[in-house]
Amino acid sequence: MVHFKSSTMLPCALFALFVPLLVAAQSPEGTISGPTTSTEAAGYSCDASKCQLPNCNCASVKPPGGLQPSDVPQFIVFTADDAIQSYTLDAVNQFLAHRKNPNGCAPKMTYYTSLGYTNYSLVTDWFVAGNEIADHTVNHVGDPSAGEINGNLIALNALAGIPLASIKGFRAPFLNYSVDTLKRLYESKFTYDSSASASVPVTDPNSDAFWPYTLDYGMANDCLEVPGSCKGEPKLPGFWEIPMYAFFDNLGAAGPHLMDPWLDNANGASAINDTATLEYMKNTFTAHYNGNRQPIGLYTHPIHVSRSVPGSTASNSTVNMINAFLDWAQNQQNVWIISSEQLLDWVQHPTPVSQLDQLSSLKCSTPQVDAKICNGMPSSQAGLIQHCAFPDFPFYTCYGCPQDHPTVEKPNPPQQVADGQQARFRLPQNCSTPFWDPIKGECICTSSTCAFADGSRPIGPNGANLTGGGTGTFEDPASSSTTYVPFNNALPSVSLDILPTLILGVVGAFIGTFGVISRF
Ligand SMILES: [Zn+2]
Repeated sequence: MVHFKSSTMLPCALFALFVPLLVAAQSPEGTISGPTTSTEAAGYSCDASKCQLPNCNCASVKPPGGLQPSDVPQFIVFTADDAIQSYTLDAVNQFLAHRKNPNGCAPKMTYYTSLGYTNYSLVTDWFVAGNEIADHTVNHVGDPSAGEINGNLIALNALAGIPLASIKGFRAPFLNYSVDTLKRLYESKFTYDSSASASVPVTDPNSDAFWPYTLDYGMANDCLEVPGSCKGEPKLPGFWEIPMYAFFDNLGAAGPHLMDPWLDNANGASAINDTATLEYMKNTFTAHYNGNRQPIGLYTHPIHVSRSVPGSTASNSTVNMINAFLDWAQNQQNVWIISSEQLLDWVQHPTPVSQLDQLSSLKCSTPQVDAKICNGMPSSQAGLIQHCAFPDFPFYTCYGCPQDHPTVEKPNPPQQVADGQQARFRLPQNCSTPFWDPIKGECICTSSTCAFADGSRPIGPNGANLTGGGTGTFEDPASSSTTYVPFNNALPSVSLDILPTLILGVVGAFIGTFGVISRF
């Protein structure tokens, strides 16, 4: 796929390791250089009389639900990709922690998480604070196998205690997805993908800046790039695409900036110029705001703008510029900073700005938990988190250190349990994260307001060993040599699935290593 250009296939795991060296040299992943679709290539048609909200929505530049643009909030979708570490959360916090939305609540964002170098207890904390945790594969690979997608889901459930029902979304590493990727997500009961580019300005009559839409009538973005998609394919009823909306500099359609626009040169210049970047970000925002109010996206790789990571070369000027953009945007009426899942909820329930206080997904959410349990609330987990001292990347978890790092083949390894110690209990399907005590194996929710049942993904025949509570210890010796059964209860196709992944993983690691050597 041509447009998913990335200067390197360096996996994020390696990237994180060498980040102090690489920040300056590395081009970001997720850049585009021009339109990725056309009306002709899309060949899109959708029957709006049959395709109706909340479970079907035709691709359209017009707001959902027939709302007038003046009744539509201007959403800024804030996302981050790759490993969750203290450094990356620091980076996000420098943009969001001091902000409030128009209803006085703290903004939420979506973290597309890959597992290498991820600190699982921070994932739990970030999630319990109300942010969305989504899938970005185990090993940060493009065009991922089902194992890469589902292994991430299982490991985040097992070691970070994220309910399977809450892991709704996916973004492909390098934005490199295929029709098969979308089908795999559909089979694994994901709600949405957010890997496609909206690459034509909203001021162009053929803009592809569609509001999120379902794939009942196929894809309408990236039609020039993804073989076998568009012209009605793939048909995945009820499965959503949340396009990623590019910014455009003075070159217009020839100057798109998708992820981390602050790392790009504006207007064809030969160096980064934060002033020029700020100007075109404002111009694109205004075009959306004065038009059909399609969302604006700040799609970040936070490590690039982390000032706490050792050896950081992040520019203060760039960080200040991003905050200046958000300050400026928030000074306008009806501007909200939200996560992908909040955007999707609004699209499914299009609510005029005058009634937004009725939409529960935009409300403040702070679970009330006072008990000292290891649950993702920093005040109640001090001293209870376990340190998993793997030499290459140590991490913390409430859910019991595994014997090995999660892998595609074994996304939920057995726990390491010291002599005389009790294994920790993984999140069951009938308790939500803030109320689960993984030490006692007890749900402290006693009221209907915190009641929870996760029926999002039926567990396959041996899936009970992998998700939905327990201690992650395999009781059936036969099952420890297999992986897991897909969530759709299909027969295992493990051997076919893993082999190419293993090969890709080895090749990827080699290329990554070679890339590092060749750069230095
Ligand atoms: Zn990534």
